[in-house]
Amino acid sequence: MSNIISEIKRTILVVEDEVINQEILKEVLSTKYNVEIASNGIEAIQKLTKSITPISLIMLDINMPMMNGIDFLKKLNEKNIKRIPTIVITSEADTELECLKLGAIDFIKRPFELPEVMLARVARLIELFEDRLIINASERDELTHVYNKNVFKEYVKMIEEYNPNDRMDLNVLLVENLQVIHELYGQEKADEVISHIADELKNNVKVYDGIVGKLEDEYFVMFHKHVNDYNELVKRFEISLEKYGVSGINLKLGVYEIDDKTVDIDVRINRAKLSCNQVGKFSHNKYLAFNDISQNNALIYEQLAYDFHNSLMNREFIVYYQPKYNIENKPYICSAEALVRWIHPTLGMVSPKLFIPLFEERGFIRDLDHYVWEEAIKNLAQWKTNNINIVPISLNVSRIDLLDDSIVDILDSITKKYNVDNKYVYLEITESAYNSDINHLVEIITKLKEKGFKIEIDDFGAGYSSLNALTTVPFDVLKLDMLFVKEMYSNDKTLKVIELVSDIAKYLDVILVAEGVETIEQLNQLKKFGYSVIQGYYFSKPLSEKEFVYLLGGKKC
Ligand code: C2E
Ligand code: CA
Ligand code: CA
Repeated sequence: MSNIISEIKRTILVVEDEVINQEILKEVLSTKYNVEIASNGIEAIQKLTKSITPISLIMLDINMPMMNGIDFLKKLNEKNIKRIPTIVITSEADTELECLKLGAIDFIKRPFELPEVMLARVARLIELFEDRLIINASERDELTHVYNKNVFKEYVKMIEEYNPNDRMDLNVLLVENLQVIHELYGQEKADEVISHIADELKNNVKVYDGIVGKLEDEYFVMFHKHVNDYNELVKRFEISLEKYGVSGINLKLGVYEIDDKTVDIDVRINRAKLSCNQVGKFSHNKYLAFNDISQNNALIYEQLAYDFHNSLMNREFIVYYQPKYNIENKPYICSAEALVRWIHPTLGMVSPKLFIPLFEERGFIRDLDHYVWEEAIKNLAQWKTNNINIVPISLNVSRIDLLDDSIVDILDSITKKYNVDNKYVYLEITESAYNSDINHLVEIITKLKEKGFKIEIDDFGAGYSSLNALTTVPFDVLKLDMLFVKEMYSNDKTLKVIELVSDIAKYLDVILVAEGVETIEQLNQLKKFGYSVIQGYYFSKPLSEKEFVYLLGGKKC
């Protein structure tokens, strides 16, 4: 304790009915402390609620008339004034456990110990408790007594470390319209309401072994075991608020179910908060899960579109590589597909499934693709310089890129800039591209092939124009759409189509690739049908450049 604080004379409340004991304790304690006496529990409660000087410690007898020690402890708990450390004076050991459970922190047995021992013990307990209060104050939000954001984050890390296998959720709750309470009833009532909500949250997350923290404004954050039914949880909050007599408050809950524990905690909080801010905009539900908004939320799209140019400038787009394996004999890496990832500053890694269609719609895709192509070709050049056995890299080409004749010169100038042979660059053109002006497309693809680039038809079988594309567009590789592999065993027809595509590839003498291969059964079946190249989680997920280089270094192609 600091000097100034330790100089203050503290007050001890002795709750004891026997006058002789009152006198002994008063005599010992008053050498160092102010002493207040209460003869039973009821008197003690009155003193505690009315006393202006703060009580630093309570010494409590168990056997008393009117309200005994046990009932007094219970009352303290109920009234939420249990923060005062309490020493129980006892001669019966069997009540000790009950007293401890009710919050007592130590015992003094009768007959009393030596005065110096008792004083030292009391001083130590007060000191410990006050230190704890100081720590608590810096750990906790002043008004609501839940953890502040930094401490909350530390606890999340700790809980995860100790329970690595538990499925957890991180949620953000917004208390809306608190301002209305403030206007109508004043600051004190608004503070009371927010504290009540904090208490309710603490009680509720306890059920799921969780913790609560306070963010800025009227946002709370929670971390607890996975909850299946959030409707039920939100309803429980609302009922408890109604019981409390508060109306007009609106609660919004943003849910982030943690599927990847490597995602930074700030990012998780942002994701949950983003969901929270969208609650009510698209449905009447009181909660929204991040995973759901990423599918169909117009507002997140707006944010992503708004962020695009800055993010491109800040190099937030990173190229990953998913290896493709030749499986004719012993599998080896024969090429890889470049797949873009967006490491968004607040949302973390955003999937291309979310932003590619958006960028196509908004006309940003050209800029992004040119950037990705250059990054990948630059990587190829670096690998070559570092004496790594390079493999061809497939670049995704959006149909919008193909509307522009300059694509041929753009690609050719990038490979020239980095001195990479064009034969190392494959271009994956998704089947839907063949819906547009087919003559123009054939013209551009022919030029690309003349320059030495290889052409892959991506997602073959997914659209309507497959057969048309096969007969008119010159290409080198046919890549079966993932859905066929996924549904390989759902019916006989799918299996037949997969085999038929293999026959077509043989007939046209093109390389045949299957992607989305996750299991050994799928792999064996495809091998049987003559598929020579396989891409999918069975062999590898898309990898960061560093991981991919490591893989390349270890194997020869
Ligand atoms: P895609 O070209 O069909 O790429 C394959 C997608 O399947 C990738 O998703 C990949 O991560 C995923 N995948 C790979 N193996 C498996 C597997 O075994 N099981 C399952 N379920 N999925 C697997 P990703 O990276 O999310 O990309 C999604 C789509 O975004 C791509 O589909 C592509 O159309 C587009 N895309 C990605 N990067 C670019 C880019 O740089 N430019 C353009 N224009 N589009 C891109
Ligand atoms: Ca592709
Ligand atoms: Ca594909």
